Amino acid sequence: MDKIYLDHAATTPVKPEVLEAMMPYFTQNFGNPSSVYQIAQINKKALDDARETVAKHLGAHPNEIFFTAGGSEADNWAIKGIAEANKAKGNHIITSKIEHHAVLHTCEYLEKQGYEVTYLNVNENGQIDLEELKAAIKDTTILITIMYANNEVGSIMPVKEIGQIAKEHGVAFHTDAVQAVGQVRIDVKDQNIDALSMSGHKIYGPKGVGVLYIRRGLKVTNLIHGGAQERGRRAGTENVPGIVGLAKAIELAYTDFDNKIARIQGLRDRLINGILTSIPYSKLNGDPVKRLANNANIGFEFVEGESLLLLLDMNGVAASSGSACTSGSLDPSHVLLALGLPHEKAHGSLRMTLGEKTTEAEIDFVLEKLPAIVGRMRDMSPLYEDFLKENKQD
Ligand SMILES: *Cc1c(COP(=O)(O)O)cnc(C)c1O
Repeated sequence: MDKIYLDHAATTPVKPEVLEAMMPYFTQNFGNPSSVYQIAQINKKALDDARETVAKHLGAHPNEIFFTAGGSEADNWAIKGIAEANKAKGNHIITSKIEHHAVLHTCEYLEKQGYEVTYLNVNENGQIDLEELKAAIKDTTILITIMYANNEVGSIMPVKEIGQIAKEHGVAFHTDAVQAVGQVRIDVKDQNIDALSMSGHKIYGPKGVGVLYIRRGLKVTNLIHGGAQERGRRAGTENVPGIVGLAKAIELAYTDFDNKIARIQGLRDRLINGILTSIPYSKLNGDPVKRLANNANIGFEFVEGESLLLLLDMNGVAASSGSACTSGSLDPSHVLLALGLPHEKAHGSLRMTLGEKTTEAEIDFVLEKLPAIVGRMRDMSPLYEDFLKENKQD
């Protein structure tokens, strides 16, 4: 069997149709969109069309769509930009403990600049408490930034309700929707979202291109000073091929959407249920219901996640563990810790994220291999040995 890729939350392959749409903008349509001659105007038109496509799928107006160099940049821009533009009003920001590092580290940076940040707790399903959110809002609160869906455990947040609370208190609401776009239907107006980040490479588009939606009238400082690109807010000659690719990717993501999502969710449930029934002392991490269709995150007691990844890789399966996001570091995932998992359980977690090309045969291959792999690892674990001894004495 070919390699099995179950790490779509980390990145996705560029779809052939996306690459095809991008190609002319590397070669014949190479002009600078800011120039006046015809070969450049083709590019200007391509940018306008891309902006319109993205706006349509987010429920926004094209003038509210700003292209960036990825999801991290969009998160940085939204948070620093809103904080700076609203400095006179207050210095308090509310976020959650399970945000992506692009959000958390930006908030930590702002704390050093004199801002105050509240990091909301989450419950064992990875959900914030809306009452806790309301209670955290003060006169000085200027921004609530809560992710739409979590990249590690897949929990989907009550975004519309959060937006409603923000609106009632006159506070800006930003959401990191990098994992949600393409897996959940989004309508920024209906869902009370003031600013939203997304990324190309998580939706079968190219890397290094993203979007920040900024609601008309929202105060955000400009990101890059220079030319008049992105209406003067983010200067720099546009990444036209990347932007065209991102637009094609979002269009394809919402084509035949319900069928695609239902199929992936079916495979995900086959994977989760198969593991939980065949492997003892395993548990699903995150929300069992309000969860991204492609996310299976499972904790195995008496197992070390990094070793599990290596053994899976030897069997041709690419997945991620509870610490792989900070790859190279062996700190357990801040997300799993925030869900209340003790260190050793956070370390023994495996994230498998399915994609549009994932097949039933691939899932069954994992289900066939995993019990033996976990069993072999437990046979070598002194903790498991102790556990078995203790249990026999009862
Ligand atoms: C991948 C990811 C990002 C970063 O996006 P890049 O385009 O890689 O910079 C931000 N937030 C979440 C939730 C992500 O999954």
